[in-house]
Amino acid sequence: MPHETILIVEDNPQNLKLARVLLRSEGYDARTAIDAEQALILLEQIEPKLILMDIQLPGMDGLELTRRLKGKPETKQIVIIAITAHALVENEQKAREAGCDGYIVKPIDVTTLPLELARYLGAQASAG
Ligand code: MN
Repeated sequence: MPHETILIVEDNPQNLKLARVLLRSEGYDARTAIDAEQALILLEQIEPKLILMDIQLPGMDGLELTRRLKGKPETKQIVIIAITAHALVENEQKAREAGCDGYIVKPIDVTTLPLELARYLGAQASAG
């Protein structure tokens, strides 16, 4: 069973709960934040391997939070997977430009998400 820490940043309570329950059932240490400010505070205390990043957040959005994290030596190595409601090519481009390592479209697919996460975490491990 995996046990890596994954941080979920998501302002929608139902989506947040779904992701948390799913990740914990897969054996991950799933931590949560409901906005960018809470995520930044939490990241002072934990070092997740991966962040599931909702792009649409109140206040600072997920793209800006990603830019900040990728711009800091202590957080730039965290794999960031953007989650967005719309499967638009320009959204994916914006996510990549902000520094996101991957891109998932809502609604969360409970069958494929664990496989995608394992793939991203595996790719990071083999990259050293
Ligand atoms: Mn949102």
